Amino acid sequence: DAQRLSESDPNAKQLGYVEDASKVDKGRYSNYAAGQECSNCSLYQGQPGDDAGGCTLFGAKRVAAHGWCSSYSNL
Ligand code: SF4
Repeated sequence: DAQRLSESDPNAKQLGYVEDASKVDKGRYSNYAAGQECSNCSLYQGQPGDDAGGCTLFGAKRVAAHGWCSSYSNL
């Protein structure tokens, strides 16, 4: 899926993006809190039930609904 953001994408790496929020490096990203994931981040553009959706930080690439990155926001 070329339109899906890869964890190895340089921009993804810079923000510590992971496809599975349970795999966040909690030592490195102390702002992570249990329950946070792309699907409940205010920058996520996907619809409920989608397994992936857009993120305003990653242009045309879709992020995993259960993913996470260090720019997570619930504001
Ligand atoms: Fe996921 Fe939010 Fe990070 Fe975008 S900003 S990758 S929706 S946690």
